[in-house]
Amino acid sequence: MKKVQVLVIGAGSAGRYAAREAARLGREVLIASTPPFGGLCILKGCMPSKALLRSAHELYAAKAELADLGIDHAGTFSFDLPAIIRMKNRMIAEMADSARGSIDGIPGITLVEEPVSFLTPETAQVGHQIVHFERAVIATGSLPKIPDIPGLTGKWTLTSDDVLELETLPESVIVLGAGPVGLELGQYLSMMGVKVTVVEISSRWNPDVDIRIEEGYLAALAKRGLTVHLGFRSEHFEESADRPVLHGKIGDKSLRLEADRVLCATGRRPDLDNLNPLAAEVHLSHHRAIRVDPWLRTSNPRIFAAGDVTGALPVLNLATYHGEIAGFNAASALPKKIEDRAVPTAIFSDPEFARVGLTELQAHALHIPTITGYLPFSDLGKAIVNRQTDGALKIVADKKTREILGAEMYGAGASDLIHLLTVAIGFSATIDQYQRILHIHPTMAEIVKYVVEEMTDSF
Ligand SMILES: Cc1cc2nc3c(=O)[nH]c(=O)nc-3n(C[C@H](O)[C@H](O)[C@H](O)COP(=O)(O)OP(=O)(O)OC[C@H]3O[C@@H](n4cnc5c(N)ncnc54)[C@H](O)[C@@H]3O)c2cc1C
Repeated sequence: MKKVQVLVIGAGSAGRYAAREAARLGREVLIASTPPFGGLCILKGCMPSKALLRSAHELYAAKAELADLGIDHAGTFSFDLPAIIRMKNRMIAEMADSARGSIDGIPGITLVEEPVSFLTPETAQVGHQIVHFERAVIATGSLPKIPDIPGLTGKWTLTSDDVLELETLPESVIVLGAGPVGLELGQYLSMMGVKVTVVEISSRWNPDVDIRIEEGYLAALAKRGLTVHLGFRSEHFEESADRPVLHGKIGDKSLRLEADRVLCATGRRPDLDNLNPLAAEVHLSHHRAIRVDPWLRTSNPRIFAAGDVTGALPVLNLATYHGEIAGFNAASALPKKIEDRAVPTAIFSDPEFARVGLTELQAHALHIPTITGYLPFSDLGKAIVNRQTDGALKIVADKKTREILGAEMYGAGASDLIHLLTVAIGFSATIDQYQRILHIHPTMAEIVKYVVEEMTDSF
């Protein structure tokens, strides 16, 4: 039987970080992952989706925005989807190679492309070998999930994986779910000419977010052709002329939606398909994710878990942070606890949505008195000259300590701008400290300064 000090299961983002951290601390690491190599972010997630969105956003801008900037063009714009998919595939192949290089051949790390299945609390089947491990890190990620709606059959359904490979587009698509995946891929399809209808069960798109931000964001998406039906309860699908028809209700009103295909974007499920966690005495949460404590330890003290498989917010920055902590704890006698950090997140639609830290409602739920500031992009010089006035920023600070607690925004560049507030929160900055920082004029970043000035002036 082969013996290893640390077995890392899954070589996605969390697994690669875990392996590097454990090796840095001097452990012999075996990292085993089901092929293809690369993980979700590179192969079927962040990167390919953003590559396709870039083409869609440029196409939309060319068709809908150039004339406003005084740029004339003769004829129409068209696109070659197989060429776009080839471009995306070349790019992700290069990224996967570079990710492989970040672990393969690093002293102390051995990579094998084999599935892992636990046999006992301290052994696992890795391909054809049985491996005894001192410590293990589970980082097997997540898989697309098909919602359980009566009549919904596989012949109509698309997952995000499928959309990223389509070389011919359907004429119309119903998108189930208005989360980041539904909105990004829904907008991609819509800007490429597909008739898209997004339905969302929740009556508020995001109940934590300021209603002005939510309504402004959804209106900006609708202006660009993507309408979201909130409070839509899907009842059943039926087939009509070989196409899916979705019957549902908003309040008491019945609705019938017909399309060629259905994109399921209602979330993903932890990937436990081959893992056999119970053989290792690793317990699951009631959402069937790997249950971990604040040290990312599972119910088996030898085994840690990181990333999407734990049911944590499924974003890359958390997966890599968790990977690093799990790898450290698997290799160290003095384990580190997960810190409650402000996690910035974004939706890469046009316009973008981004947030970090607490919203006003969340702060109030924690009984924190707040000061807030709000400014629409239509009051910002650079947004006006750029003709990008769809947007707004809201900042929340603690009324007593004046520390910045959170921010939420939509608008051009929101996914980058939010880092100004993320840094401020990371350094526990107050609005008074932020207000003293000079910003270049005219820039989009100035909006943060203006909102903070409004907050410091008014109190
Ligand atoms: C369409 C889409 C767009 C996204 N866009 C963004 C974005 O813009 N920004 C962002 O922050 N996040 C985004 N995400 C989420 C982000 O990609 C994930 O949160 C992150 O990649 C998860 O990393 P992970 O390491 O936990 O899992 P993964 O990267 O999925 O890695 C798991 C690995 O484990 C392997 N594996 C599974 N089972 C076994 C087994 N039994 N044995 C061995 N190996 C196994 C898998 O093959 C895989 O390689 C997006 C997700 C999707 C679906």
